[in-house]
Amino acid sequence: MGLLLVFTGDGKGKTTAALGQVFRALGHGWKCCVVQFIKGERETGEALFARKEGLLFRTLGLGFVVPGQDREPHRRAALAAWEEAKALVMSGEYRLVVLDELCYACAFGFLDPGEIAGVLRNRPAETHVVVTGRGVPPELAEAADLVTRMDAVKHPLDSGIQAQEGIEY
Ligand code: ATP
Ligand code: MG
Repeated sequence: MGLLLVFTGDGKGKTTAALGQVFRALGHGWKCCVVQFIKGERETGEALFARKEGLLFRTLGLGFVVPGQDREPHRRAALAAWEEAKALVMSGEYRLVVLDELCYACAFGFLDPGEIAGVLRNRPAETHVVVTGRGVPPELAEAADLVTRMDAVKHPLDSGIQAQEGIEY
C-alpha cells in the first residue's frame, strides 16, 4: 500500500532521509524518481550520482529565494515543477516518488497545499510519495501517513563551519 511520508522540521536530515528511502527502494528493484523544488543553484552529489545511474532526478527550482528579489520566476518554476511532479506521481510508473522541498514551495505561497493534498490522495494505490521541507502545511500533514520532524539540536553552521561537499550537497 502506497504511503505518503513527510520529513519536515528545522534540523538537517530531510532531503537525506528521502534519499535514504530511494536507496532502500532501489535495492529492491523499485523504479524511483526525484523532483526537487526551490533548489537548483548548486550541483549536488545526489544529482551527480543519479545521472550516472540513470535515475530520473529533476532539479526544477531556481535556487534560493532571496528576500526583496522578484519572486515571479520562482513561482513559475514551482508551478512547472508541480505539473511535472503530478504527472510522474499519477503515471503509476514509479513506485517511489520524492518531492523534495515541496513544503517550501507551499510556504512561499507558490503552490496551493490543498490542491497538492487532493492530488496526492488520489494517486495510484501502490505509489509511495516522500515530501520534504520545513514547515509542512496542515493539509499535507493531514493527508500523510507519516510525519517526522527533524529537530535542530546542534548544527555546524552555528559554530561557523560552512557547508561542505559530500555532507551538505
Ligand atoms: P539535508 O539535505 O542535509 O538532509 P535538509 O534537507 O534537512 O538537509 P534543508 O532545509 O533542505 O535541509 O536545507 C538545506 C541546507 O541547509 C543543508 O545544507 C543543511 O545542512 C542546512 N541546514 C539544515 N538545517 C539547518 C539548521 N538548523 N541550521 C543551519 N543550516 C541548516
Ligand atoms: Mg532539503
